Amino acid sequence: PFRQRLLVVANRLPVSAVRRGEESWSLEVSAGGLVTALLGVKEFEARWIGWAGVNVPDEAGQRALTKALAEKRCIPVFLDEDIVHQYYNGYCNNILWPLFHYLGLPQEDRLATTRSFQSQFAAYKKANQMFADVVNQHYEEGDVVWCHDYHLMFLPKCLKDYNSKMKVGWFLHTPFPSSEIHRTLPSRSELLRAVLAADLVGFHTYDYARHFVSACTRILGLEGTPEGVEDQGRLTRVAAFPIGIDSDRFIRALEVPQVQEHIRELKERFAGRKVMLGVDRLDMIKGIPQKILAFEKFLEENSSWRDKVVLLQIAVPTRTDVPEYQKLTSQVHEIVGRINGRFGTLTAVPIHHLDRSLDFHALCALYAVTDVALVTSLRDGMNLVSYEFVACQDSKKGVLILSEFAGAAQSLGAGAILVNPWNITEVAASIGQALNMSAEEREKRHWHNFGHVTTHTAQEWAETFVSELNDTVVEAQLRI
Ligand code: UDP
Repeated sequence: PFRQRLLVVANRLPVSAVRRGEESWSLEVSAGGLVTALLGVKEFEARWIGWAGVNVPDEAGQRALTKALAEKRCIPVFLDEDIVHQYYNGYCNNILWPLFHYLGLPQEDRLATTRSFQSQFAAYKKANQMFADVVNQHYEEGDVVWCHDYHLMFLPKCLKDYNSKMKVGWFLHTPFPSSEIHRTLPSRSELLRAVLAADLVGFHTYDYARHFVSACTRILGLEGTPEGVEDQGRLTRVAAFPIGIDSDRFIRALEVPQVQEHIRELKERFAGRKVMLGVDRLDMIKGIPQKILAFEKFLEENSSWRDKVVLLQIAVPTRTDVPEYQKLTSQVHEIVGRINGRFGTLTAVPIHHLDRSLDFHALCALYAVTDVALVTSLRDGMNLVSYEFVACQDSKKGVLILSEFAGAAQSLGAGAILVNPWNITEVAASIGQALNMSAEEREKRHWHNFGHVTTHTAQEWAETFVSELNDTVVEAQLRI
């Protein structure tokens, strides 16, 4: 049967590459959300285009890596160190990431950023052009090109400049901020116009889509319609496509003997105590200090719970070379130390804080034994941890406390306890409400969320986006 070719373009390829010799590489496929989403989509033949995460300055190495990656259906874009520094660390992570998450920079950093803005933006455009060159080399008529995330906002324009007939979609995995925030970006108009070159532009939530359309109407003076944004008769379709997870993969994992053994161990270890869980990259957007302060307040006000509850916080290290992230790490350590010193006993502490990641099976076991999951992101595009927790809770029916600033609040709001993570009093009260909740109410809430997570899967998300992109192009041709 004919399968349409899908070129998935993202900053990082879904593999990590380690060089073993002059012409030898070892590759490990990483099972991120996007990879599992597309593995499940059978009607497309997907190929990946992106950066392999390593600097390969020599031609022999590039040739060998290209060959090794081809077996995994991956095509590399080679970026040199200076470009990576300016485009990836600079423009993407120091400018777009904080801005899209409504994070202010410290005054000093803000001035430094302002000064280096132009050169970083130039590198960003150059890098996007390099991605476009590779896409263009591999493009065949009829292919669908799906560009991902804030790293590649210039890509739709570069691709359409090569070939206006290319079917191009762009999806943002982070929030898109209010137009009042986007306005402050020196390159605000150029970026919007570049994204609008796509045929279809997708976001996790209706709010993000609305913010994007407002930015286009207010900053560019274009017309917003229920379908998207119009510019001189040409429509860019804008819509919400909330991502999901491969829920079956989590549910099946709970049957694995090694996971069941792990579950038994954890239950024994924390017998007599309710388990609360946080799983986050150690990023400012996750609101980890706020979460821990709320837990402290709960312990302060509920002395009878002090030896009956434990908070397990998995904080996966990220961007460890950046001073701001190092500061956050020590800030979290300090708060955890204080609380454990204050409420711990000789044999038990209220918080177990881990500065590392867990493998998939360990994570599933942890999700399964949890009574209350705490997701307190200050801003989060979607937050898949909340989905994964729900998928693993069919026997326990635990409670999800979820920030209203996570995209997931739009879909899991009816089953979760929604909180404003900045309101420590409210979060502390929600912890009490969750721990004391009747089995009946937990079941009702879980049933709602579990139904959502198992029907709105990652596979369905990918299929919907691509078929909408195909339809959009057909409709546009009918309009001419
Ligand atoms: N995760 C992981 N190992 C860990 C902790 C988390 O692989 O030790 C995964 C988790 O399963 C989830 C992802 O990291 O799929 C985090 O996604 P989310 O959308 O919650 O947040 P992000 O890190 O993308 O901001």
